Amino acid sequence: MSLLITSIATGVGLAFGYFWISKNRKIPALMALDAPIRVVIIGASFGGMGAAKLLESKCKGYNIEITMIDQKEEFYHLIGAFRGMVEEGFAKKLWIPRDRFFKDEKHQILNASVSEVRKNEVLLGSDETVPFDYLIVSSGLSYPTPVDTRSLNKQAGVQVANEIIETIKNAKDVLIVGGGCDGIELAGEIADDFPDKKVTLIHSRRKLLPGNVSDRCRAKALQSLQKRRVEVVFNERLIFLPEDLLQTHHTRKAWTSTSGRVYETDVQFFCFGAKPNSSFLEPLNREYGHVLEEKRDFVRVQSTMQLESSKLSHIFAVGDVCNGWSEKVAGVAYRQGTIASKNIFKLILKRVGGPSQKLSTFKPPIQKISFSIGRTGGVTQVGFIVAGDYLTSKFKKDAGVPRFWKYFGYELID
Ligand SMILES: Cc1cc2nc3c(=O)[nH]c(=O)nc-3n(C[C@H](O)[C@H](O)[C@H](O)COP(=O)(O)OP(=O)(O)OC[C@H]3O[C@@H](n4cnc5c(N)ncnc54)[C@H](O)[C@@H]3O)c2cc1C
Repeated sequence: MSLLITSIATGVGLAFGYFWISKNRKIPALMALDAPIRVVIIGASFGGMGAAKLLESKCKGYNIEITMIDQKEEFYHLIGAFRGMVEEGFAKKLWIPRDRFFKDEKHQILNASVSEVRKNEVLLGSDETVPFDYLIVSSGLSYPTPVDTRSLNKQAGVQVANEIIETIKNAKDVLIVGGGCDGIELAGEIADDFPDKKVTLIHSRRKLLPGNVSDRCRAKALQSLQKRRVEVVFNERLIFLPEDLLQTHHTRKAWTSTSGRVYETDVQFFCFGAKPNSSFLEPLNREYGHVLEEKRDFVRVQSTMQLESSKLSHIFAVGDVCNGWSEKVAGVAYRQGTIASKNIFKLILKRVGGPSQKLSTFKPPIQKISFSIGRTGGVTQVGFIVAGDYLTSKFKKDAGVPRFWKYFGYELID
């Protein structure tokens, strides 16, 4: 018996030792790098963080430098945006400092706006340039109001959220346009925190939510909204101009729909029409072609997360800004970031004379959708399984804000 235990212990020890050595073994060709290899990441949010975290650990001890660029001063936790529009004091918790993100101080996060991407350099709004050997674009989407993707720092973001709270407080009735996850979440937040307001949600289709969601999930969402006395109107389209999407709608206004019904409310929120932040790639698109989708402007990527154009295989794009075959959710953005980093590391190895390795590819995970409806409701669908209020509200408590503070090396203090 004791011989068996000793043999197992030795086996486990050897396996662990082998794993440790192979994980920590340094690659001589990379150790010999004179000039640094520069990896630039545009967007320090979910996709950018997934990429940077993995790349930092893979590049430990090598002359490889990561620069993340983001126009926002701090990480903005988009997922909690709607709670910030109903609960006073919540919006400030959505802005989290990123200064503890990198462990090695040779890597940096630049607070700047990218105005153009060239083949081997990024041009900033200030006219400075940042050269790169490899680039990852993870610049996400811009939303019409009320989702606030315009504020660049905590002060501005909190002010926008507070104005919305005041507007809702003073309103008698609220119109929400768009019955996707965003519209449903916002309706739920307002209905739970301001039960005296009349909330109307109008949706242009026959059923709530995007096409790939099960009917059970849609039914649960509708039930949960109706339980909160939200009026849901289907097959209804408002008549509006494109520039209307850019306005904040904080005054009483009457909107007519294509069916002829008039919706007169104190405040209106448009929860659709997000656009990719990809305009800085237009010059590259003109020069090389196939960088951006026609009309919709999403970045065209292969499953390796490299741009489609073969002359730009050192440029990657991940997350919401990409065209593609997967949900626009934070987990997918993060995972795609890690795929891009793995592949950059493989390309660097090849560049210094190492073996040519097959690049990793992103495979869409099992379909998962999860959205809260107020503080106690929500629906989660994972594959064919659908969970309702109890599990979803536990899982999505406080929009996961305390967890994110921890991720960035901070304790959330109220
Ligand atoms: C209200 C709401 C609720 C959501 N809830 C969930 C949820 O519960 N679960 C979930 O998984 N997903 C949720 N999502 C989706 C999720 O937030 C996105 O999928 C995720 O943020 C995508 O990450 P990303 O890194 O691709 O882009 P983003 O998070 O949008 O980040 C892009 C970053 O790029 C920066 N940037 C953009 N342009 C420039 C430029 N020119 N120069 C410099 N920096 C630039 C921006 O400042 C930003 O920090 C929600 C979205 C919304 C709007």
